Amino acid sequence: MEQMTGIHIAGRWVAGASEIENRNPSDLSDLIGRYGQADAAQLDEALDAARRAQVAWWAAGIQKRHDVLMAIGTELMARAEEIGRMLSREEGKPLAEGRGEVYRAGQFFTYFAAEALRNQGDLAESVRPGIEIDVRREPVGVVAIVSPWNFPVATPAWKIAPALAFGNAVVWKPANLTPASAVALTDIIVRQDIPAGLFNLVTGPGRAVGQRLVESRAVDAISFTGSVPVGRQIAASAVANMTKVQMEMGSKNPMLVMDDADLDLAVAHAANAAFGGTGQKCTAASRLIVHEAVHDAFVERLVAAARALKVGHALEDGTQIGPVVSEDQLAQNLDYIALGKAEGAELLCGGDRLERPTKGFYMAPAVFAGTRNDMRVNREEMFAPVTCVIRAGSYDEALAIANDSDFGLTAGIMTRSLSRASHFRANMRAGCVMVNLPTAGTDYHVPFGGRGASSFGPREQGRYAAEFYTTVKTAYVAAGAPE
Ligand code: NDP
Repeated sequence: MEQMTGIHIAGRWVAGASEIENRNPSDLSDLIGRYGQADAAQLDEALDAARRAQVAWWAAGIQKRHDVLMAIGTELMARAEEIGRMLSREEGKPLAEGRGEVYRAGQFFTYFAAEALRNQGDLAESVRPGIEIDVRREPVGVVAIVSPWNFPVATPAWKIAPALAFGNAVVWKPANLTPASAVALTDIIVRQDIPAGLFNLVTGPGRAVGQRLVESRAVDAISFTGSVPVGRQIAASAVANMTKVQMEMGSKNPMLVMDDADLDLAVAHAANAAFGGTGQKCTAASRLIVHEAVHDAFVERLVAAARALKVGHALEDGTQIGPVVSEDQLAQNLDYIALGKAEGAELLCGGDRLERPTKGFYMAPAVFAGTRNDMRVNREEMFAPVTCVIRAGSYDEALAIANDSDFGLTAGIMTRSLSRASHFRANMRAGCVMVNLPTAGTDYHVPFGGRGASSFGPREQGRYAAEFYTTVKTAYVAAGAPE
């Protein structure tokens, strides 16, 4: 059996020019494996192979694409426990979340299997007699996918599935922190009956192989999820090459808690959205904007909820919050705790590194109160189990604070008032708004994305994904008179 190295090019697994070690953030003595790092020549080979394979894949037709995607999705769902365990081991989210993520990844594939069949166009009459017009969607060609570590199976799945469904080839650069998840997903895809080179995995350092990939003129479209600085750089190179680009980056998602909210529900949703996935979600609730009438009661209950969360090894029964993904991320989180204090925020709980029986990157969930919206802890994405409470005197003030951000991915309101909920839905500048729900947690069949610095380019997921993964062709046909 071929060794799954971390690099899959032109239909085979190949060794890398160098290797990295992958360790379990819950237990640093647990070496998950060593993974190859692709070099420039291997990346170029992957791009060439993808170009050739794409033609055959598009010609194979919609039934074939449907069947392949359905098989990938079905296998992911069937193996959610096994792959989810591995995902949790390398990324650090609790097993239930790891399992759920893999199952969800399967749903993206089965959903887009059906979308492959629904690739329909438009017919139009011409303003010139005797001419017929049709508008069809065709693949964009070779798609570069650059993905992060926080959802190492689901995020690539929601990009790869529509890319393949609509007839494209893929070159995927996953995050270097989660190569085992990338290998598991790739293994399932490349075992299907697809042209060699249709799907290529080029694990390697972002600043080397990732950057070369997004700067390549051999790429027709780039889909990226990650940090704002890297996204900015990718956008610049995409524009320079006139390459289609779509990006999903950070956020500072607000959750409004109004004076008429169900407080128990508000606390449960806030804690879930702020600390789930160790706060390492682009949809995390990081600004809790609370009406002054319920402020103190809400804060007291939230702190109690944060303190009650069980932080531990991702694979241990009962763990609710796993470790932070890496030493660097933990150091950055602790810097933000120090920054918040220096800015005058009041740390009510957590924020310190925790010791557990196994050595790992554990951190206690933190709540800052007494924060102002102009503090850096309320302006910058922390990607940490840290949330900030901002006091507001009214709904209008709370909405104005919520909208005062460079970001606009998700936003929530906890209220029993239909008029406030409706007004919020209409006036909150965000890609997704949630009423009486956590800011994190979205469905797989509807669009996902944001405004401002959170997203750039067409939306991902659902029917709307066709906008990015296809290009339209308008055909004019003059059939002439029959002989
Ligand atoms: P990055 O944006 O650096 O990484 C995301 C992906 O981009 C990874 O695959 C990475 O590769 C790759 N990459 C890095 N540099 C380049 C480059 N110059 N050109 C092309 N690709 C590149 O995020 P990090 O993982 O370093 O996380 C840093 C911060 O980003 C987090 O603290 C968080 O704030 C934010 N973030 C936001 C996410 C979101 O979903 N909104 C997801 C992840 C991070 P490699 O892994 O090899 O570096």
